[in-house]
Amino acid sequence: MKTAYITHPDCLLHDTGVGHPENASRLQAINNRLIAAQLYDFLCHYQAPEVTREQLLRCHDAAYLDQVEKMMPLTGHAYLDPDTVLSPESLRAAKRAAGAVVKAVDLIMQEGLSNAFCSVRPPGHHAERMRAMGFCIYGNASIGAAHAIERYGLERMAILDFDVHHGNGSEDIFRDDKRVMVCSTFQHPFYPYTAIEESPDHIIYAPLEATAKSAEFREAVTSLWLPALDHFKPQMVFVSAGFDAHREDDMSGVSLTEADYRWVTEQIREVADRYAEGRIVSVLEGGYELHALARSAEAHLRVLMDL
Ligand SMILES: [Zn+2]
Repeated sequence: MKTAYITHPDCLLHDTGVGHPENASRLQAINNRLIAAQLYDFLCHYQAPEVTREQLLRCHDAAYLDQVEKMMPLTGHAYLDPDTVLSPESLRAAKRAAGAVVKAVDLIMQEGLSNAFCSVRPPGHHAERMRAMGFCIYGNASIGAAHAIERYGLERMAILDFDVHHGNGSEDIFRDDKRVMVCSTFQHPFYPYTAIEESPDHIIYAPLEATAKSAEFREAVTSLWLPALDHFKPQMVFVSAGFDAHREDDMSGVSLTEADYRWVTEQIREVADRYAEGRIVSVLEGGYELHALARSAEAHLRVLMDL
């Protein structure tokens, strides 16, 4: 098992302002934890390249890309929405974040790595085809899935999203593209307030009440994600790995622990081993309580590393 760990110093430069929960300390906390846990040296380290415009255009409209570039501030901050901030270096960070996922696909398809974790920010799963949202600028996981389809001719991708918020961006990008199944567990009703009454067969909602804990989360994954994935048989599995459902993370009501992140990663590995030759590209999404985030990412990575 060789696990790639892909990040870039530019991801630290995206400055969201004082007191914003999505900040550079998140990546540093994960990095430090992996060193302390003596996992760091057993990962295969890569720097993320910048995503190209061509790669972005597979998931976002040209008008949206132009609009973001036009809004970039020379100093201070500009706001894509009330939560989604641009600083002078934000686009560099966003291009590395999406580029990391493209790189992960290439490493697995060309270099024989088993799986990859992209420790990047800004996150991506709220970014829609034509709209930034919820701290997200580019749809990082979606851009990776689109790359696997366009570059390698794969036909069935799965995006598995256990962030506590619904991955509305991934859904928006692939709602009319049955090649990409999007499975999401999320607190409901909660931001981004997705209407979940109806969905096509390849969009799988697993809503959780605000009081949900381990048992409810595992039941949702077991009864809603796994049968759909067994039917779909994905050739590559992308993970929108948000750790903000942790009980110590006050972003949400749902109360998970590291053991749950370990468990769900084991389920994901089983799916990937069965149908996708083990190919997993995991991408950091949310997770804001730094200690819980770092411990949860470690638990997730230990399974990817087969430890
Ligand atoms: Zn989240």
